[in-house]
Amino acid sequence: MGVRWGIESPHPPTPHPHSRCCCEPTPDCLRRSPLPRRLAIRDPLMNGPFFGRLALIGVGLIGSSIARAARAQKLVGSIVATARSAKTRRRAMELGLADQVVETNAAAVEGADLVIVCIPVGQCGAVAREIAPHLAPGAIVSDVGSVKAQVARDMAPHLPANVHFLPAHPVAGTEYSGPDAGFAELFIGRWCIVTPPERADAVAVERLSGFWSGLGAKVATMSAEHHDLVLAITSHVPHLIAYTIVGTADDLSAVTRSEVLEYSAGGFRDFTRIAASDPTMWRDVFLANKTGVLEMLNRFNRDLAKLAQAIEAADGDTLFDLFTRTRAIRRGIVAIGQDSAAPDFGRSRPTLAPSPVLRPYASEE
Ligand code: NAP
Repeated sequence: MGVRWGIESPHPPTPHPHSRCCCEPTPDCLRRSPLPRRLAIRDPLMNGPFFGRLALIGVGLIGSSIARAARAQKLVGSIVATARSAKTRRRAMELGLADQVVETNAAAVEGADLVIVCIPVGQCGAVAREIAPHLAPGAIVSDVGSVKAQVARDMAPHLPANVHFLPAHPVAGTEYSGPDAGFAELFIGRWCIVTPPERADAVAVERLSGFWSGLGAKVATMSAEHHDLVLAITSHVPHLIAYTIVGTADDLSAVTRSEVLEYSAGGFRDFTRIAASDPTMWRDVFLANKTGVLEMLNRFNRDLAKLAQAIEAADGDTLFDLFTRTRAIRRGIVAIGQDSAAPDFGRSRPTLAPSPVLRPYASEE
């Protein structure tokens, strides 16, 4: 058996250079909160496959990465997958992502002891209603949505009492979508936040946490509401800012716009990367996390107004103090291994040596 990198491992591997998350809470934030706690779990792999049959509803970036990693780590006996369109299902088959690719969500969950819904959060309620009558008693039903409270409210009422509903959010991603975009190393060294409802079965929580740990993630638990507040500031509002700034640049007159593209500096380029994230996914995130996003956006607007005043008043000290503080935060993130210290955020270039971690399933794109 190979080395496992569960949460108990003292030396989790360096995150894959491509797993540059679009939605990460700062680990400091997670540490300070009274709610999150790390789970002490056993090595799930000691007894062979951790789950007999994994059903993946949706095989885009996240679903296909779970499929690849679960198979690579031998965490499941078999994988059955489905997606909304025939095109994606066909591609999943071509890529060999699952043992079986089926046409409907209902067929996918038949006989599965772990069901993970990997679709845009706005669809989760309807899919829960669709799969509910077909779920095996005792199955764990989870999701990967970037918003937790609304998804739980949408899904829970449809699910039967004899399954364990345990929402989760792997805080790992890229700006790419679809089955070709996934890779087995996506979750290594990243957080997966599980938000179990009150009175959730402890053994089921441990099994799901063990699964994510087996995929390489560090696991934390917290309430869905707390998750949404943390992610609002670490992920959702930053995405909103990126969408805004790139949109503003695009609204400039044509001549200036071409100059913006031509002379785009590192800061703007990084915003364009974030603003290239999937429109459906992010529309759903903002609609589902309205409360958290608006609360953090209000604070952000107040702070931005203060900075504008400082610039207006030529108050260099205020600017300098803030920039010193933010630089320390960046260094802290690098220090705990959540990002690379390489210049330009470690972006790999074709002229550099290839990544040491192979991506055997990734498309040429
Ligand atoms: P994605 O690459 O766009 O894939 C979405 C998948 O869901 C596709 O296979 C799609 O099938 C399928 N799908 C959509 N509606 C469906 C339905 N009603 N029934 C069955 N399948 C359906 O999206 P993703 O990036 O993997 O994101 C999936 C979830 O993960 C979202 O909830 C997102 O919030 C969360 N998440 C994303 C990231 C990230 O960085 N991307 C990170 C963490 C969590 P078709 O292709 O046929 O439409």
